[in-house]
Order: sequence, then structure tokens, then C-alpha cells
Amino acid sequence: MTTVNGGISYWYAANGLPAPREPLPGDATADVCVVGGGYTGLWTAYYLKKAAPFLRITVLEKDFCGYGASGRNGGWLYNGVAGRDRYARLHGREAAVRLQRAMNDTVDEVIRVAAEEGIDAGVHKGGVLEVATCPAQLARLKAFHAAEVAFGETDRVLLGARETAERIRVAGAAGATWTPHGARLDPVRLVRGLAAVVEALGVVIHESTPVTRIRAQQARTPYGTVRAPYVLRCTEGFTAALEGQRRTWLPMNSSMIVTEPLPERVWERIGWEGRETLGDLAHAYMYAQRTEDGRIALGGRGVPYRFGSRTDNDGRTRPATVAALREILVRLFPAAAGAAVDHAWSGVLGVPRDWCAAVELDRTTGLGWAGGYVGSGVATANLAARTLCDLVRLDSGQGGATGLTTLPWVSHRVRRWEPEPLRWLGVHTLYAAYRTADRRERAGRTAHTDPVARLADRISGRG
Ligand SMILES: Cc1cc2nc3c(=O)[nH]c(=O)nc-3n(C[C@H](O)[C@H](O)[C@H](O)COP(=O)(O)OP(=O)(O)OC[C@H]3O[C@@H](n4cnc5c(N)ncnc54)[C@H](O)[C@@H]3O)c2cc1C
Repeated sequence: MTTVNGGISYWYAANGLPAPREPLPGDATADVCVVGGGYTGLWTAYYLKKAAPFLRITVLEKDFCGYGASGRNGGWLYNGVAGRDRYARLHGREAAVRLQRAMNDTVDEVIRVAAEEGIDAGVHKGGVLEVATCPAQLARLKAFHAAEVAFGETDRVLLGARETAERIRVAGAAGATWTPHGARLDPVRLVRGLAAVVEALGVVIHESTPVTRIRAQQARTPYGTVRAPYVLRCTEGFTAALEGQRRTWLPMNSSMIVTEPLPERVWERIGWEGRETLGDLAHAYMYAQRTEDGRIALGGRGVPYRFGSRTDNDGRTRPATVAALREILVRLFPAAAGAAVDHAWSGVLGVPRDWCAAVELDRTTGLGWAGGYVGSGVATANLAARTLCDLVRLDSGQGGATGLTTLPWVSHRVRRWEPEPLRWLGVHTLYAAYRTADRRERAGRTAHTDPVARLADRISGRG
């Protein structure tokens, strides 16, 4: 049995690659130019066009819409937002609570728009289940749960080992926490559907059109320049390849595997009838979903970062990473030990130096951007896009300040990443530390978070 490696992602293997759209034919003008055709860029185009149908909006995409993380992710549409706790420290608890509430609503907003626009993304809203599989994880789980409830997330519940097993049989699960604010979906069906909807609304999309330079009011490509009062950079994990942006966000790799469809007798042993998105409390955490076609798709960090912020080779993944993910699969689901791994792939996401997602529109230049979602971008990109949309409307006099334009992540600035080789050394040391801490915690040596992980969190700015 062979595992397909790369080919962008399993989701493309299942759905087929899209028919290419025409590249930019030459110089052009627009009211808004969006760079990048992932969730951020497409949702931004969607909300702008819905709010102001007269706007001329052009999306420039270097490959095809959904080529990046938006076509490769784990399909967790959930309410996590990178940096919430830091925003609470910086702007006060109330501001962070507003951000969290907006994220909770965003899960339903994506589901609502998909239904309204006829996008069948295989959505199942079963909530988010995070399991602890050793004493140290259990201690973190309880602390995490208490902190979330204190933050107003009162619909989050804590489950004991038996209650967890009633939902899903994860080997060694000592407990779990569940929140209703999450759904599993097929990422490609969402991004592809969104691109078609946006195009039908009158947004111009040019694919195979790499933007080589972004300046105030212009996006330059090998085929011509698009001039627009607003140029919005929506390139997340690929941002480092743009001129002047090498150290803005670290392109972090995440890798996934998917099993063959599991037979009913295996599903009977596993359970998972609620089809919750599933994660754990490891430092190098895993995320998984039960797919619509009865497979387990499971991801985690492989080689977390490539020297010099290199990003991608169509999702090809190192065999050692595939083996490591399979090892996690079998450890958590012994019932699936005999299942073939049909596909493995990787992608990049964007990590700011302080691990905080953010949105900005510079009112003097008309340059905007959103991203740095650190692995929770499926829902966050929608909220960021609506925020960008409101900022553009505010700046152009078409709208006033809204609940979104005053969210604490607007105009958040952070220092850049260290130059190489420090960047590479830092990230590799960090993930080696997390793996060591996970191993030691699994061996049951401590019922508390391993000090190595605590130190790594403090040094990396992640904690
Ligand atoms: C393997 C993996 C699993 C993940 N799982 C989850 C998950 O389960 N849940 C979750 O919430 N988040 C997850 N994420 C993160 C999430 O997918 C991303 O944060 C989100 O998709 C980012 O969307 P985006 O539109 O900002 O970026 P992208 O989807 O990366 O889109 C950027 C687009 O810009 C294009 N582009 C880049 N440079 C240029 C240029 N110079 N000119 C023109 N176009 C350009 C790219 O080709 C790409 O299409 C995962 C990420 C990965 C990689």
C-alpha cells in the first residue's frame, strides 16, 4: 500500500484540482486589490463586494485559489484565536472577551454564509473535543478549562475519563474538555466554493499571477501592475517571500496524514459519532477530524520550519514526519493500527514573533494585511476579513467605526523575527524541547507541565 505524498493535499485528491483561471493580462486598475486567494483574501473580497457591489475588486493569486493552507488544513472551524490572552494583558479583559465572542459567532457566520451561498463544505458542527492522555496533560487540561470558564466560556464542559470514552475511545484518555464552538469541514470545498461565489459576485480573480512587490497603491506582477487605492496582503505563511517581509511572520510547517476509509467495525470500537474536531494537550499538539467519507485525518508539527523561511514544494512531506504522525495515530487509536495511510501532505501557516493574530489598514498608504493566525486560521480568517472590510469602508468614508474596527487585534504591531541562523536554530530547539517534554510527560515522570516546555514557552514568547 503506497501513501501519496504531496500533491498539495488529500482534499485535492478527493475533489480534483481546479480548472485554472486566467493570469493578469497586463496593467489594470481596481478600487481594491487583494493579494492571495486563500480564506483571508476571498472572504475580504466577499464582504466588500456584498457591502458595496459597485467596488471593482481584483484578487491576484500566485498559483490557484486555495493553493495554500486554506486548501490543506485540518478542517477545524473553531473559535480559537491566537493571542487572546496577550490581548487581555495589553488591552484589558473586556477587549479580549469581545474578541472571543466575535470568534464564537464567526463559527456560525461561516456555516451560515456557506449554507446561504450553496457551498457544500461537508460541515458538521459537533464542537471541539480536547483530550488529555497523561497526568501532565490532565493537569493542563483542568487549568485550561478553568481559565476558559473564567473568561466567560461557560458553555465549555469538563469530561472525566468515562464521559470521554462515551464520546470517543482514545487510548489513555484521562479526561477531556468540550466546547460547542467548532465544526469539522472539508477545507477545499469551502475555499473552492468561496472563490466561485466571489467570482459570481463580480470580483475579478487572476491566478498563476505572483505579486513580486507591494507598494502604496500598487501590486506589481511579471505581467503588469494593478493600481488601486487599497492593496491588501493576504498571504499568511507565504508572506516571507515578499520583498521586505522576510522576518515578518515565520512560515511554520504543519503536516497531515489521512487513513483509508475505516470499516464499520473499527468505527464501532472508536466511537466518535459526534464527529467533534479532536485535539490533545501535548506541547507539539495533534489535531484530527473524522472525515465525511469515514477516514481519520490527523495533523501535527513535522519539520516545523525550513531554513531561510523557505515555504513549500506542493505539500511534499518527509517520510520521518509521515511515520511520526502515523505513530501518533496508532498510539491514540489502536483500533486503526491496521489502516493504510492514503495520503500525507504539509503546508505553511504564519507565526508572528509574539504569536498574536492581527489585522491592519495603514490609512496613510492604503496598505492592509491580516494573518498570523498560528494554526487557527479557518474561522479567524473570516473574522479578520470582515474586520479588513470594515476598515476599508471606514477609511473610504463608506462606513463608520464598527464593533470589528475596534477589536484589540486591529493595528497590533510586533517586532520581527531574528535573522538566520538564529531563527532556524530557535525554532528547531523549541520544537525539540517540546518533543522532549511530551515524551517525558507521557512516560508519567511528572503530573505537571515539564519544566523544559515551560522554559521553551517563556523563551519563544508563546506562553
Ligand atoms: C496543514 C495545516 C493544517 C491546518 N489546520 C487548521 C485547522 O484545522 N483549523 C484552523 O483553524 N487552521 C488550520 N490551519 C491554518 C489555516 O489553514 C490558515 O491559517 C488559513 O488557511 C490561512 O488562510 P490565508 O488565506 O490567510 O492564507 P493561505 O490559505 O495560505 O492563502 C494565501 C494565498 O496567497 C497566495 N500567495 C502567496 N504569496 C503570493 C504572492 N506573492 N502573490 C500572489 N499570491 C500569493 C498563496 O498561493 C495562497 O493561495 C492549518 C494550516 C496548515 C498548513
